[in-house]
Amino acid sequence: MKTIETQVAIIGGGVTGAGTLRDLALRGIPAVLVEKGDLASGTSGRNHGLLHSGSRYAVGDPESARECIAESRVLKVIARHTVEDTGGLFVTLPGDDPGYADRLIRAGRDTGIEIEEIPVSKALRMEPHLNPAITRALLAPDATIDPFRLTMANVLSAVEHGQQALTHVEATSLIREGDRVAGILCRDRKTGERFAIRSRMVVNAAGIWGRRVCQMANLDLAMHPSKGSMLIIDYRVNRVVINRSRPASDGDIIVPGDTVSLLGTTSRTVDYDAIDDLRVDDDEIDVLLKDAENLIPRISRTRALRAYAGVRPLLAASEGKDGREISRGLVLIDHETRDGLAGLVTMAGGKLTTYRLMAEKLADYVAERLGVNRPCETRQAPLPGSEKPVPIRRTSKKFTGVSESVVGSTHYRHGERVHQVLGGEKANFALVCECEMVTAGEVRYAIKTLGARDLIDLRRRTRLGMGPCQGGLCAYRAAGLMEELGAVDADTALTMLAEFLEERYKGVRPVLWGDGMREMEFIYWLYEGLFGLGAGDGSQTETQAPERDVP
Ligand SMILES: Cc1cc2nc3c(=O)[nH]c(=O)nc-3n(C[C@H](O)[C@H](O)[C@H](O)COP(=O)(O)OP(=O)(O)OC[C@H]3O[C@@H](n4cnc5c(N)ncnc54)[C@H](O)[C@@H]3O)c2cc1C
Repeated sequence: MKTIETQVAIIGGGVTGAGTLRDLALRGIPAVLVEKGDLASGTSGRNHGLLHSGSRYAVGDPESARECIAESRVLKVIARHTVEDTGGLFVTLPGDDPGYADRLIRAGRDTGIEIEEIPVSKALRMEPHLNPAITRALLAPDATIDPFRLTMANVLSAVEHGQQALTHVEATSLIREGDRVAGILCRDRKTGERFAIRSRMVVNAAGIWGRRVCQMANLDLAMHPSKGSMLIIDYRVNRVVINRSRPASDGDIIVPGDTVSLLGTTSRTVDYDAIDDLRVDDDEIDVLLKDAENLIPRISRTRALRAYAGVRPLLAASEGKDGREISRGLVLIDHETRDGLAGLVTMAGGKLTTYRLMAEKLADYVAERLGVNRPCETRQAPLPGSEKPVPIRRTSKKFTGVSESVVGSTHYRHGERVHQVLGGEKANFALVCECEMVTAGEVRYAIKTLGARDLIDLRRRTRLGMGPCQGGLCAYRAAGLMEELGAVDADTALTMLAEFLEERYKGVRPVLWGDGMREMEFIYWLYEGLFGLGAGDGSQTETQAPERDVP
């Protein structure tokens, strides 16, 4: 069996694993990361993309709030190109307790978060679609962050420093030598190849799946799987993050991002066995739409694009608590001290916003065990794409023959790496996905530099297929291009196309009504007619759409 020798093996290519791979790289500690799906295909790609100022936790979980405000300040600099510094509003609706806003202001003062009250008229000027009936408005330093770009940028930085990140590779068991873990056994899920990674330390950064990794060593890790569902609407209806000023509850946030707005969220405890098969329930969609309508009335006249769910990787430290009541604080579990098993460390809890801090704590622990005395550098070192900015107008001039908006979109997604994406041949300018303005150059970059192995990977790296047609009009072109670029062979391209469409359909299905339903039918016929990708028995056309008023 092939064996890779390294110092550290990391299980999990979410933002925590990616951040740890990078932190170790900057300290000169060789590491290999394995991810059973794609990077950010777990909870890291299934959240709101809110760069928390900490305000949402300030009242009930001050420790997490302090971590969030400190880390959001760092990420606004080192991960600049993945962040939109939108600001956030906390608004009180008629019927909400107006005193909650005062508690929030006081808690902000205690935790070092600048939360200030502004006149309602000013809030309405900032956010013209906001419900004019709001009675109070607070301004907080919330922002948005793209979790895919953030994760990819961490991995890219690590790889540029010599680390390896293996996607679609599952850690199937731990290699044990007496009282210590000496590496992992792996299987490539695309090729079926099995191999070993021998290392001095194994980092369990598998998020909610961390319990299963512990079970590989017969150890227990009690987790509390709390599902949250979210809904994406087709337009970006708000400029700033809009929060409802009340204790955490369903449907109390609308986050703008890229070309869309995202409605969040619910909190339902699910069986641990259900974490691989999450479904968004109809009643969750109803709650999300109804509550969002209270914040922005015109939401009900905007097309819903898709729905999805994630599971919060919370530790079940407090029996009987609701998912929202459990601290978002991070927890490092030293299995040598806790279980007498050396060479294994688990990171649990935390947030997307605090990933860098989690990675720093993990890398501190690992470095100490390995006798490496180099301090963490990730607090200052910019991620690839977030280096010193070049004004976008100067950048556009370098690319004659392509529209400024295409250059702008590429720059928005890849920051200062725009030159690597669009530079070189003119063929790079050809548009593959019109909804999100993804070019052939971006597809090439995603394959060659960011390690995309299939169309779903490509979507996470470029936003291809995330727009109104949900890939219907671009997926086949992208599949052809992937084949042309040697990423897949022709047979695989067709299978990959079907998998991509099925995956998109899962997210669209809960919101199939009105225009969305009509467009999906059209796309189904298109792919059935041209590629023979229909179900054959017509079952996919008999979708049970929930009964709703179509605006
Ligand atoms: C509904 C919801 C909304 C949220 N909103 C926000 C928000 O707005 N802002 C914020 O800061 N945080 C938010 N969070 C929290 C945040 O998303 C998570 O804390 C964070 O993404 C966890 O990242 P992770 O890397 O630890 O876990 P994950 O992203 O889940 O990564 C773990 C990875 O390990 C892989 N893996 C598991 N087992 C194996 C194995 N055997 N071999 C190889 N790989 C394996 C999985 O495939 C997975 O990709 C939200 C969470 C939820 C559920």
